[in-house]
This record gives sequence, structure tokens and C-alpha cells, in this order.
Amino acid sequence: MALIFALRSLRLCGSNYEIMDDGLKESVQVLKGVGPRRLRLLKRLGIETVEDILYFFPRRYEDRSCIKTVSQLRVGDVETVCGEVRILDSRRTRKGGHLFQMAVSDNTGVMYAVWFNQPYMKDRFKAGDTVILHGRVRAHGHIQMVGPEYEILSGGDEDLLHTGRIVPVYSSTEGLNQRWLRSLVRSTLDGHLNGVEEFLPGSLIEGLGLPSLLWALAAVHFPDSFEDMEKARRRLILDEFLILQAGIVARKRKMKLGTPGIAHDTGGELFKKLLRGLPFDLTGAQRRAIEEIKTDMARERPMTRLVHGEVGSGKTVVAALAVAIAMDGGYQSAVMAPTEILASQHYQTLQLLLGAAGARVELLLGDLTPRRRRAALDAIASGARDVVVGTHALIQEDVNFSNLGLAVIDEQHRFGVAQRAVLRRKGPMPDVIVMTATPIPRTLALTVYGDLDVSVIDELPPGRGRLTTHIVPPSKLCQAYAFIREKVMAGNQAYIIYPLVEESDKLELKAAVEMADRLGRRELAGISVGLIHGRMGWDERADVMRRFKKGQIKVLVATTVIEVGIDVPAANVMLIEHAERFGLAQLHQLRGRIGRGSGRAWCMIYGEAKTDEARRRLKAMDETGDGFVIAQKDLEIRGPGEFFGTRQHGLPDLKIGDIVADLAIMETARKEAEAILEADPSLSLPEHARLKEKVIERFKGRFALLSA
Ligand code: ADP
Ligand code: MG
Repeated sequence: MALIFALRSLRLCGSNYEIMDDGLKESVQVLKGVGPRRLRLLKRLGIETVEDILYFFPRRYEDRSCIKTVSQLRVGDVETVCGEVRILDSRRTRKGGHLFQMAVSDNTGVMYAVWFNQPYMKDRFKAGDTVILHGRVRAHGHIQMVGPEYEILSGGDEDLLHTGRIVPVYSSTEGLNQRWLRSLVRSTLDGHLNGVEEFLPGSLIEGLGLPSLLWALAAVHFPDSFEDMEKARRRLILDEFLILQAGIVARKRKMKLGTPGIAHDTGGELFKKLLRGLPFDLTGAQRRAIEEIKTDMARERPMTRLVHGEVGSGKTVVAALAVAIAMDGGYQSAVMAPTEILASQHYQTLQLLLGAAGARVELLLGDLTPRRRRAALDAIASGARDVVVGTHALIQEDVNFSNLGLAVIDEQHRFGVAQRAVLRRKGPMPDVIVMTATPIPRTLALTVYGDLDVSVIDELPPGRGRLTTHIVPPSKLCQAYAFIREKVMAGNQAYIIYPLVEESDKLELKAAVEMADRLGRRELAGISVGLIHGRMGWDERADVMRRFKKGQIKVLVATTVIEVGIDVPAANVMLIEHAERFGLAQLHQLRGRIGRGSGRAWCMIYGEAKTDEARRRLKAMDETGDGFVIAQKDLEIRGPGEFFGTRQHGLPDLKIGDIVADLAIMETARKEAEAILEADPSLSLPEHARLKEKVIERFKGRFALLSA
């Protein structure tokens, strides 16, 4: 909903510009050659209006501009040639098919164009026509092309479409061929391009040295050179990104400047007490993050701040300090974590840090008995709890707070933006902190997270030991077990991660159980081996974790349940099996479980990389421990689709820009959008009228990100 308001404040009433009325918004049906069948097929390509055709960008280009003479043709190459049709020959083949061939010559020689089973081709040409042919050159007694692309020149200086130029290639669908699509685009450009209106402010076009929109739209389809194509693309990508950024920035400004929130008292006693009583000195990065949070919380505008810091960088204490600020003013806090283990760990930590000062902390998990749950809910609703820690159980309908002032969401990439929004609605615009250990590459920070303020904790607490990573080849697995054995004998503890593809897969689970059992009897005989997986009951799991923490269990075989948040400093050896099944970010998270104490730590990664992608992932893990580099690599390996392909982010689809490859343009767009909205917060100046229209049009019906 918030976006609607954001947009409403952007709306132009009684505007002083002319509504365009040029048929661009009309259905493609009005175009020649588009009947019901093609209408349907075009829709499949996302084309419904005349304008959609202009914005249906080529998927790639073919350079058919280099026209050769017949004598220059090289057998085996794809070439373009120009000549005159001499002899036409159409006949049945011995096998009952049809063959049409024609001889084409220039003053250097003769070649043949051949079509099989397309008898209608013979009616397209006549002797004396000048034709351009494009296709692979074959030797078949003489030189020929089978089924070439062709174009018949009428003698005027008409525009070539399919040959003799840089030719656009579109993503197509069955029933619509390239030739037809290309002609459709050409005729639409001819008939309707003039109806397109510039929407960028003139000063911006000039400042960035951009070509006009009309030129760019024509050149992106039928460029005269690859430089022109690039220039056109850059202009159109900037358009797309600028609209995107204008929407994001407008939303962010609206939240920051226009929405009332809570002005917390940041000079309270509890906060000071907690700060003084910490058993360690905060790192500089932690102190910076807390300062930023304090400033935000003191403002009477809602905070939406992303705190990102490596695994182990100490985000929890930062969250605890924010909770203390909320408590100082008598507000409740909610702390949401993605797994029960992590939630209960946060519960313990907060209890430890804040409980002493009188904070009443509640743990709300999914599997409470109805009675206990009821009691907990009542306590929360009546204000008898200061802090509520939980999983997504926190955002169930029946959870009500008496005065929620702060929501902390840990490891937020696991939660959708929608959940973020639900939590926020449980209070009168509480401040929101989202914490993640997965560093956010710049490009995502500008887009999917583009409306958040960011604090980075880029420093680990002192005294962390060195962590070494080894890739274990298949033949060396038993040595990895021997290594674990040796380290455990020397007093260390270890994780063996055995991933399940699906936590619900019985066979896989059986394999994990059997492995734990076998290790205990064989490779790790005499050592206490524990097992933890997601299908165990909560109590049972908590019990295993407790024993591992106490050192009663030395080696913990785990499915991915420990992926996030477990903190056992004595565990400093890890073997990850079937590592090829994990994504990079996940592997990095897993590895972050060890190396939390001051001694050395070892991570062994065992996997059979069968795909190129898996190989690249393992290599990246071997090469770097820097979460930032890993996140960027992850993004490059998987492509932005994983982040940007989902609807969850709530941003408009992109047609031409690539948020990874075109990052530099995104930066420019962000800067320009900020400048525009700074000077004209509601885009009400005449020169911004059309931009505003575009933003409203593109963001229509997409609120997810924008209402979080
Ligand atoms: P994460 O950022 O991964 O959530 P945690 O908050 O769990 O990290 O902190 C990891 C460990 O580091 C905890 O045991 C915590 O007590 C400890 N820690 C946090 N900050 C500091 C600090 N400034 N100095 C020393 N230890 C710290
Ligand atoms: Mg954490």
C-alpha cells in the first residue's frame, strides 16, 4: 500500500503537458499482417501494444554487412554475397521431394542457391533480379548455399533488412520467424517511431551526452555499425535503470521524510549499562554500526537499515544494543531468525546480555503446545514481554504486540520482503534492522535492497585464528576422516556436513543416519559422534546441540540445519561432503561456523564437481575467504536471475539492462535519480512530467519491495 501513497504523492493533477495520442498504446492488431493467430503468438513474446514492438529488443545481432563477391566466398564460412539471378530450376527429386535452385552470378563467378521442399520459393524470384544471399557456403560440384537468407533489391536505395547489414535477431516463438518479426519491427518503426516522445529531461541528455530516444530506438534494431548499436543500447539501458532508480529513490525518500515513526530516546540507562558491561571492547566497525543505528532510531522517521557483516563479525551484540534503546523508551522488540536453533541461540544471548538488566525475553517457536503458546501470546500482547525472539512463528496472524518499537530480522536473505512488511505492520511503524552475513554485491544493494540504508561491519573481533580451506579429492576422503580423528584426539571438535537435497527425502536421510553410525563404528571409532537433522524433534535437537556445546559430542554429523548462526568456538574442524550440492553463499556460511575461537581452523571441502558451475564454485571457495568476493562470484556464476528473476523483489522487469554487467550505468542512474528527486521531490516540474508517468506505469502493481 505504501507505494500507492508514494506514487500518489507523485501524481500530476491538472498537468500542463499533452497526453500522447499516437496509437503507441493500441493493440498490435492494428498493424498489417497481425491477425488473431499472430496476435496470440506475439503475446507469448510479451508483445501486446504497438509500443511493445519498439521495445522488443534484439537478443543478438548478426553481422551480414560485409558483402563478398562470388570469387571471395570461402567454403565452410557463413557469408553474404550479392549477384544477379540467371537461371531458375524447379523440379521433383528422385525421392519425391522438391528442389528449387537458381544460379546467381556477379562478374567474378557463379554460385547457386538451393531450397528443398519449399516449392513456393520459385515464385519469389525471377531472372534479372539483384539479390543478396546470406548463409553457409558449401561445395557441391559448384559453390552453393542451402536455404540462405535472401533479399531482393528493387534498384532504389532502400534499407536492407535481412542481409547486407548488421541484422537483429529476436527471441522468437514457434510460428513467428525472424524474417517476419524483423519486417514487423521495421514497419512499426516506420509508422510509429515519430509518436514516441522523449522523457528524459533535456539537461540530463546533454549532461550525459546521450543520443535521442528516437534515434536510439531505431538504431538498437537496425544499427549502421556496432558502435551505434552500443550507443543506442547504453541510452536505452539508462532509460530503464533511471525509471527503476527513480521509483526506488522516491520510495526511500518517502519512508525517510514522509512517514511518521518512533523517535526513540537513545540516551537511556539500559543502553549505557549494556555498553559498559560488555565482556569485550566493541570493534570499530561495530561502534560505527551502532552509531548509525542510534542516529536513525532517534529520528522520528522509520529506520530500515541493513547491517551486513561477515559471519562472526559480532552482529548480535549490535542488535542487543538496539533492543536496549527500544526498551529504554518502553518499547518492545521482535527478533526474527530463520531457524529454531538460531532463534534459541539468540534467545540465550539476549537473555544473557539483557536479562540481567531486567529484560523479560520470550522465545516463540513453531511447536509450542497450544497452552504455552496462548500464555506467551497473552504476555506479549499485554506488554509483559520486552523482547520476543522467534522464527517466522513471530509473524503469524495471532501474534500481537502492545507496542512494538523495533524489529530485527537476522539472516534476512532467507525471508522474503513480504515477511519483512508483515513484521513491520505489527507495530506503529517500528524501526527495522535486517542483518545478513551474506555480503550484498553493489549491484543488489542498488536494486533489490535499494531502498535500505546500509551499515557494514567489515572487521572481525581480534584474536580470531587462521582458517585454512582444503579441497579434498574423491580419492582422499579417508585421509580427511583420519585428519578429523587426529584433531579430535588433540582436543578439538568437528562438524561433518552431510547435505540432504530435501530435508524430507527419506532415502537421503537414511544415508546421513547410516553414515553417522558407520563413522562411529569405523573411521571414528572410540569418538563420540552425534547426529542432528531437520526432521528430529525440537527437544531432541536442542539436546544434541547442548551436548555438542559442552564437548560431550566431539564430532557432529549434520544436515544443513546448522547452516546459520551456531556458535561453538571449540569446534574448529569441518568437513563438508557433497559440496557440489551447495551454492557458494551457503558454503561460505557453513565455513563461517568454524574459526570462531582463537586457534587455527580447518575446513575440508569434498565434492565431485560434475558441472562447470560446480567446479567454479569449489575453486572460488579454495581461492578466497572474503565474503564479498564470494558474493560477487556467486552472482556472476548464477546470474542475477536468482535474485532478480523472482517476483519477490517487487521491482519491474528489465528488458535490456543487466544489473550485473551494466553496473556502471546503474550507478549513473542512481546518481541522476537522486539528483532529480532532490531538486523536485514529487516530480512536479514540467520537465519531469513524462519521467513521472513512466515511473508510475512501470511500478504499477508491484509493491513488495516498496512496502517493506
Ligand atoms: P555474527 O555476526 O555471525 O552474528 P555473533 O554476533 O554471533 O556473530 O558473534 C560471534 C562471536 O563473537 C560471539 O561469540 C560474540 O560474543 C563474539 N564477539 C562479538 N563482538 C565481539 C568483540 N567486539 N570482541 C570479541 N568478541 C566479540
Ligand atoms: Mg549471527
